[in-house]
Amino acid sequence: ADNTAAFKSVQTTCPYCGVGCGINALVDEQTHQVEITGNPSHPANFGRLCSKGSALGETVELKGRLLQPRVYGREASWGEALDLVADSLISTIEKYGPDAVAIYGSGQLLTEDYYVANKLMKGFIGSGNMDTNSRLCMSSSVAGHKRAFGSDTVPGCYEDFEQAELIILIGSNTAWCHPVSFQRIRAAKEANPQLKIVVIDPRRTVTCDIADLHLPLAIGSDTILFNGLLHYLGRKDLQNQAYIEKYTEGFSTALEAAAISSGTIEGVAAQCRLNVNDLQRFYHWFARHEKVMSLYSQGVNQSSSGTDKVNAIINCHLVTGRIGKPGMGPFSLTGQPNAMGGREVGGLSNQLAAHMDFARNDDIERVGRFWGSKTIARKPGYPAVELFDAIHDGKVKAVWIMGTNPAVSLPNADKVKQALQHCDFVVVSDCIANTDTTALAHVLLPAQGWSEKDGTVTNSERCISRQRALFSPAGGAKPDWWIITQVARRMGYEQAFHYKNTAEIFREHAALSGFENNAEQGLRDFDISAFADISQQEYDNFQPIQWPVNRTHPQGRARIFDDGKFYTATGKARFIAIEPRLPVNLPDKVYPLVLNTGRLRDQWHTMTRTAIAAKLNQHKPEPFVEVHPTDARRHELLPNTLATIESRWGSMVARVQITDSQQQGSLFVPMHWTGQLASRGRMGALVNPVVDPVSKQPECKHTPVRIEAY
Ligand code: SF4
Repeated sequence: ADNTAAFKSVQTTCPYCGVGCGINALVDEQTHQVEITGNPSHPANFGRLCSKGSALGETVELKGRLLQPRVYGREASWGEALDLVADSLISTIEKYGPDAVAIYGSGQLLTEDYYVANKLMKGFIGSGNMDTNSRLCMSSSVAGHKRAFGSDTVPGCYEDFEQAELIILIGSNTAWCHPVSFQRIRAAKEANPQLKIVVIDPRRTVTCDIADLHLPLAIGSDTILFNGLLHYLGRKDLQNQAYIEKYTEGFSTALEAAAISSGTIEGVAAQCRLNVNDLQRFYHWFARHEKVMSLYSQGVNQSSSGTDKVNAIINCHLVTGRIGKPGMGPFSLTGQPNAMGGREVGGLSNQLAAHMDFARNDDIERVGRFWGSKTIARKPGYPAVELFDAIHDGKVKAVWIMGTNPAVSLPNADKVKQALQHCDFVVVSDCIANTDTTALAHVLLPAQGWSEKDGTVTNSERCISRQRALFSPAGGAKPDWWIITQVARRMGYEQAFHYKNTAEIFREHAALSGFENNAEQGLRDFDISAFADISQQEYDNFQPIQWPVNRTHPQGRARIFDDGKFYTATGKARFIAIEPRLPVNLPDKVYPLVLNTGRLRDQWHTMTRTAIAAKLNQHKPEPFVEVHPTDARRHELLPNTLATIESRWGSMVARVQITDSQQQGSLFVPMHWTGQLASRGRMGALVNPVVDPVSKQPECKHTPVRIEAY
């Protein structure tokens, strides 16, 4: 930080999406105002910002903040609230065992917060029950990466956008959900008109504005499309035979499965409801261009076959050997600012820490040794959707929710509300006082917000950046890591939870990543052991860097797998044989339409921050539903009137927008509105609680519904 008399200049990162843009903040502490500009030297954005990032200065006001702990509805001291949380967790564990308690975290937490929460639950309480809303965002990518690479590794980097010859955007409205990456791709196309862009999405979104080809495939048919591509590329003259033989395994089985499911191109086009010439053109472009990037997001991940979709895409990169080299590779666009950082420290309930998980006894012993814990959990805990089912069924008696609003955002959200209403003990740490979830808490703990917090985050390209505090904390708000540490100490774990600042936690996290990790032999991908003895000053001045950062790669590493070494037992990448499956719940006579959900350009998640900025609210001021003109006629809906949308799980009311950008037979609603903002606008109430069998990520893009005028 460079302090001047009246203002201080702080370099930090945007708290919204996984692009992870760097920000220069000019802070006036006296008036509590901040001027935000893009950081021209940050490798994620080189000075660019989107509408949300640019409006951050309007979101730092204190109105609506939770500023004091609250216990059973009344204000309390920190001491009283922390004692109550620790005592309640201890008594629940004594009575029902460690698996009767759980933590549900958020991709908004900083890596240091996540690390401490995960260590408390998995390392010392001894339960795997720490999961996070990243389960809704990234878990299919994680599972797909692990199946193919033996590790959760994003192979490439943003620089590849500028070097690619063909960029494929799959299930991603990049223009709205990852706007700065979109700006970068658009600029790359302007600089190089030869760059081809293909958008694969059932909806015609604004992302299609830069597309040379839009493939509006039938919802859920992605695996058929990519199996068809694998079958097409499997021809001897198009595949990279030398790469397949030297660096991969499982090719012939995967190719056979692809051939069975796809057949002819005409057959694939019919199954995906695509124009056969368009499909042929896409396959031809994929085969013809060497530098191909496949960027994918929630349209792929949020599906009951999300992991298969990810692997179907990766298969096509392996068959051509296009991975880990400049301008090519599969690339998962992370939804949240720190979904990747959370995974690094074990935020998902099947993970342990530092990309080790419960699947290997060695990992459990190693992490237990490092933490000095004899009570380390030995099996995975409940993933998000199952966790709230377990709360509903009385198996989990006490839950601590940190920085997220599951009563709005989880599928079957009415059931989530009921679960929390009947749960014996609900703790919520948040910086916002009134949300659908804080309303159900027995104890509320005021957490610091983005402009007060200090720590690190990791974006989609594995780049670790600092978030730095702009203002002194408001009221009694505390950092999440501090709150967790205080509870851990009260539970008797003083020695393991001695932290005084985030640098100390980051050092320990870095040391664990390198602990018994021989990177040269490729034991684990995530290794930032070069930071294991980082000084406070170095941490304060930390500059963005892509992991791994260790003895072999002291300056970080832009691309992984360029050497053909993978983290599987054999060191080879795995093709996965994919048998396409339909979405679990299909439309029928009662619920004839399919509901698709997603983000808007100017809002973030449940709008606790973006709704404060007046100019962001102007874009789309209320919940709406997009309907194809034929469906509107059939269901007697008029433009701009209200409609009720109903599924087997719940209902919502939204304003009708008639558009042919929506496929006939499907509806789209934005995910953002809460019960607090629009009493019947919670889309989570409708969404079916179906999950992918491997990743446990919910199928938020496909729920059978009906619609009628309100
Ligand atoms: Fe923030 Fe994402 Fe916009 Fe960048 S693209 S400014 S990280 S919301």
